Amino acid sequence: MATWTVRQERLRTLLTGDSGSQTFVPAPGTAGLQFVRTDGQSMWPSADVLRLPRGPASAKPFCFPPKEVVGHYADHPASAATATAAPATTIVGVRACELQAIAYLDRVFGQPPVSDPFYREHRAAQTIISVDCVEPHETCFCTLVDGRPYATEGFDLNLTPIDGGFVVEAGTDAGRLLVEQAGDAVTPASPEMLAERDRLRRAAVEKLSVTNEPYQPARPPSEALAAAEDAAVWDRFAQDCVECGACTQICPTCHCFYLFDRGAREDGAFDRLRAWDSCMWSGYSRMAGAPTMKPNPRAQFRSRFANRFLHKYLWSPQQWDKLGCVGCGRCTEACAGRIDIRRVIREVSA
Ligand code: SF4
Ligand code: SF4
Repeated sequence: MATWTVRQERLRTLLTGDSGSQTFVPAPGTAGLQFVRTDGQSMWPSADVLRLPRGPASAKPFCFPPKEVVGHYADHPASAATATAAPATTIVGVRACELQAIAYLDRVFGQPPVSDPFYREHRAAQTIISVDCVEPHETCFCTLVDGRPYATEGFDLNLTPIDGGFVVEAGTDAGRLLVEQAGDAVTPASPEMLAERDRLRRAAVEKLSVTNEPYQPARPPSEALAAAEDAAVWDRFAQDCVECGACTQICPTCHCFYLFDRGAREDGAFDRLRAWDSCMWSGYSRMAGAPTMKPNPRAQFRSRFANRFLHKYLWSPQQWDKLGCVGCGRCTEACAGRIDIRRVIREVSA
């Protein structure tokens, strides 16, 4: 893969090459780094934010918005829902774990048998500029789920922060075009710069290995979880859970949703929306109809609590040939009950 370098003060020139695209960059907020839309130079935060640990927000909402109109019904028979082209969007500062999460969502929504048109429109409009994690959080564990704190695929451009600037890699033609448009802001990376990049990557992997050594499962979680679907061990963790759903809302791979209709307007038309659901909420999997006709398959909280882990570590590999957890650690940070997913997986696996 061809590599270049860009000085920190010229980074904006590289990242705003596509002037027809709305650009989102990480910026410090009260809850950590959040993606904000930048319109011109005044709103462009310092490139230093790309050297910080990842923020709580992931790129999921750009692919799969929290709430979205998926149908418009104007008369009878109902008119079909149509997906309109999404605006061109550049997302800067996406982490390697989020790229893995997008690859997972691509399997769920972006290919047969589902091939969701709304999802595909969002994805088709995106330019993704990822950045290596040189400072992983204590809660990060991508290396426990076969990930790395740096990206090797799934990006248009990838940045590695080095002294005074960034090493740049292009993963697609769109990325190479940005490099071309940047002119003399971008120059070929020297062997010393590449050596620094590789050293930083090894250091981040080493830090993750040390941090996560106590959480290494004794055997592959999928083997253990297959035998633990209704085990009492879940109760121990479930009793600390307040069913807030924060873990699923913040997760870059959770994708359960429900549909609802927004009230009829004067002309009788109405919209159908889909919104993020959560297996941690009591209404999850509840169905219309008399209880005796359609019993709730997950009426017990233990069962819903276990569902989150079973789905990610057992059923996702079976269905999508990919883990549903990318080891980002966001759910652990968000949890009011201080439930660490690494500890759950390790103890249930044991
Ligand atoms: S389950 Fe937790 S650690 Fe795994 S991808 Fe979701 S938020 Fe990240
Ligand atoms: S964030 Fe923690 S307390 Fe809230 S639903 Fe998830 S596991 Fe339960």
